[in-house]
Amino acid sequence: MTGVRMSPARRDLALATKGFMPADEGEALWDASVAAAASVPDAPMLEVGSYCGRSTVWLGDAAERSARLLFAVDHHRGSEENQAGWEHHDPDVVDPRTGEMDTLPFFRRTIHDAGLEDSVVALVGRSPQVSSVWTTPLSFLFIDGGHGEAPARLDFQGWTPHVALGGTLAIHDVFPDPADGGRPPYEQIYLPAIESGRFEDVSTAGSLCILRRV
Ligand code: SAH
Ligand code: MG
Repeated sequence: MTGVRMSPARRDLALATKGFMPADEGEALWDASVAAAASVPDAPMLEVGSYCGRSTVWLGDAAERSARLLFAVDHHRGSEENQAGWEHHDPDVVDPRTGEMDTLPFFRRTIHDAGLEDSVVALVGRSPQVSSVWTTPLSFLFIDGGHGEAPARLDFQGWTPHVALGGTLAIHDVFPDPADGGRPPYEQIYLPAIESGRFEDVSTAGSLCILRRV
């Protein structure tokens, strides 16, 4: 995909939003989701792990352009590595009333300010609970939720069966070399996807892996 992607204003907003999606990987996510929507008519897109909505802006823009909905699944309480004392903790996203993380207000502000409320539907809850009742085929699935072994395995089991034939599975934080980062997205999602025979490699951008359902 070449040419104009999302507007400079939306791109600036994405880059100003708290989160963990580098610009070049966000652009790759956009390219892959626009292409996936074009190859699978009508089917919506879904993101697992939105945090404050940074990746959601790229995906929501792609959804809007493709006349699809993007479902954004997150309990908004943070992953293990977002909690106090861990590497990716940000005290600004702690709700002072409860002492727990709450990224939902940040997420809502991001989607509002991006003008994406017609295209992005937040599903606030635990990923396995949502996937257990999900039945709609997806054109594009982006997995960037819990990066522990069990959450990653449950996301693989619960969500990847819903990718439509010809649709796309995108996985974030895939590190084939242990020196580069944690194992679960690679060992519990990427490898089982390839080994299942249901997905083939399309491309990678940084730690973002793009696979096609075959
Ligand atoms: N895509 C985001 C980063 C996501 S961080 C960006 O571009 O910045 C991972 C997110 O996954 C966190 O917001 C956390 O709350 C969510 N998460 C982790 N485990 C989850 C689970 N089991 N169910 C729902 N959300 C979960
Ligand atoms: Mg990530």
